[in-house]
Order: sequence, then structure tokens, then C-alpha cells
Amino acid sequence: MREQVVVRVSGLRKEYGDTVALNAVSLEIGAGEVVTVMGPSGCGKSTLLNMIAGLNRPSAGQVRVHGDDLVAMNETGLALFRRRRVGMIFQFFNLIDDLPAIDNVALATQLTGTPARQARRRALELLDELGIADRKNVYPAVLGGGERQRVAVARALMNRPALLLADEPTGALDSHAGEQVMDLLIDLNQSGQTLLLVTHDERLATRCASRLVTMADGRITGERTLERTA
Ligand code: ADP
Repeated sequence: MREQVVVRVSGLRKEYGDTVALNAVSLEIGAGEVVTVMGPSGCGKSTLLNMIAGLNRPSAGQVRVHGDDLVAMNETGLALFRRRRVGMIFQFFNLIDDLPAIDNVALATQLTGTPARQARRRALELLDELGIADRKNVYPAVLGGGERQRVAVARALMNRPALLLADEPTGALDSHAGEQVMDLLIDLNQSGQTLLLVTHDERLATRCASRLVTMADGRITGERTLERTA
């Protein structure tokens, strides 16, 4: 049986004025893979991630995620895609300061029309799975960095996304909290979650990834399959 492809990017190009942020980028990610993209600052990693997340449109090329053709979608289609098909984790968590942990998580499905009670039930299940159910009523400012990132991961998982995207998920964490988030990402992958990570963190890349993609100047310059060291 053919392996299921979750992401298929081909001939991707993105220009910002005279800057070519991405140039002829092609990449496939199969179901259950953890692909890490590494490369120096400014090489196009975040631009690529944002394009696969449907946050940004290419100048040329194709992006398909789980069969959806992102280039063909209008803005409404892209907004629905972002809510339902992908989960995103950011370096600085992007939590809402005025909401306790559980509501930060529940909001993700309430936006897709799930009743509040049902959304809170699933949010609590996820916080429990990620080991922070006891922090459900705590506001982001009071949570530690690792806890905040776990809340952000729970939020990203609310809609059972085909793909979890993470942009420098350990970048703002101390090494202990960073290790915990790495362990969490590895656990999620072992339960079948497909992941695309962008990072500067060599340790995160080599511990978590099944495949390492390197970029420079808007292009993919190398690719290798890794044996996980975890
Ligand atoms: P990385 O994530 O590898 O640091 P980026 O994808 O953020 O790289 O950026 C790639 C290139 O595109 C850089 O030269 C950056 O300055 C440029 N760029 C990214 N986003 C924008 C934008 N919104 N407007 C103009 N230039 C941008």
C-alpha cells in the first residue's frame, strides 16, 4: 500500500519585493513523519511553514495538505483550513493572557462551532494527557514556560489536525522545559501525529526528527533520514 502523503509542496516560490524568500522548494511529508527544517536565520524556514499552514500565499508553485489544494482556496477556505486541518505551535506560545489555560485550549474548537461544554471537556482531556490538568484554571502569566508551551500544544491538538506545525517550539524555553516539550512532541508522534518543525536547535532536530531538511537562501540544500536518539 502506498504511504499516505500529508504535505506535498512543489516548485514553491515566494517573493517579497526584490527578496526571494523561497525558490523552487519541493517537499513531501508522509503520514507519521517528523520532518525538521533547519538553516540560518533568513533562509526561508518560517515562510515555508506559514505557507503550509495557509497563513501566506506563494508567488508560484503548489501546496497540498491532506489533499487540500491551498493555492486554489479563497480566504474563507483558507481560514477554515487553518482552523480544522492544522495545529500551530509558536516560539512565544501566543496564548491569550485574559483566559485561563482551559479556555485558551477550548477556544480553538469553539471557533469551529463546537458547543462550549463539549469544547471544555475535550480541552480538559488534553490538558490531562499533557500532564497539566491541575493548571487548568491558571492564567498564562502565572504558568512556567514549559507549561505555557504544553497549553499551546493542547490548543493545537483540539481539532485533531492532520498536521502539527511548530516554529521554534523550544526557542524561548530553558533546557529543562525544552526537554519536556521535546518529549511531548516525540510522544505525540509515537501516537501517530505528523509533525513539521522549524528550529535552530540541533538537539531538538536530531532527537525528534525522522527526517532533517536543511535550507539556505530560500532553497532546500540537503535532506537526510535520521535514527532517533531518544
Ligand atoms: P527564517 O525563518 O529562516 O529566519 P524567513 O522565512 O523569516 O526566514 O525569511 C526569509 C526571507 O524573507 C528573509 O530575507 C526575510 O527578511 C524575508 N521576509 C520574510 N517575511 C517577510 C515579509 N513579510 N516582508 C518582507 N520580507 C520578508
